[in-house]
Amino acid sequence: MTASNLRLPVLADESIARQQELRMRPILNRPAGQLVVHEIYASIQGESTYVGLPCIFIRLTGCPLRCRWCDTPHAFTEGKPLSIEQILDEVDRLSPRLVEVTGGEPLAHPECDRLLSALADTGRQILLETSGAISIESVDSRVIAIVDMKCPSSGECGSNDYENLRRLRSHDEVKFVVGNREDFDWSVELIRQFALDSRTVLFSPVHGELDSRDLADWILSTELTIRQQVPLHKVIWGADARGV
Ligand code: SF4
Repeated sequence: MTASNLRLPVLADESIARQQELRMRPILNRPAGQLVVHEIYASIQGESTYVGLPCIFIRLTGCPLRCRWCDTPHAFTEGKPLSIEQILDEVDRLSPRLVEVTGGEPLAHPECDRLLSALADTGRQILLETSGAISIESVDSRVIAIVDMKCPSSGECGSNDYENLRRLRSHDEVKFVVGNREDFDWSVELIRQFALDSRTVLFSPVHGELDSRDLADWILSTELTIRQQVPLHKVIWGADARGV
């Protein structure tokens, strides 16, 4: 099965790639050996099969994408450069054993792979929340990647790297944020064509746009094993809360 079988936009064209590079330039112009960090905090994991667990979140600054419904636009630019050692010190100060590296788009940082391996070396369970746009091939095998494939209504479907769906390790998870019926049908087609049904597949509704009951009905109308999510952190603290 190849991406060319799909009725889907495939990979970024040259102009999209250029746009993405320009969006990341201020972030990548940082001191060598450092990552630009938006925030590090302990909270409750709101999504994935780790939902409900205490978790340390490391949110890296910057993203080459611009999803229409992005809920972390503040992470596009705000942040300060920290070394991996400084990040590990901050993680040690907080107690949860589960850590998620998120963004923005963490893999847009050249040092992200080193950070992930250093975190895994601490013996903690490490999650990586990443868009489907950047290869996960070099991510440490101890890290659980949660790959957020971009549906059509996000406006970033053309940025998806579908090869990531072949790079998934057995413990990785695939996530779809669904805004409407077209997004749902598109996601189901992707699941079928890449035989993702044997994996952990997560569906969330776009907040404020799709009723969870409609999404539940659509899931039940398929034979697929899809795990529906309601982002727990938004239920607890509200959709606009930051740093929780
Ligand atoms: S990939 Fe994530 S951080 Fe980047 S624009 Fe989309 S939702 Fe926002």
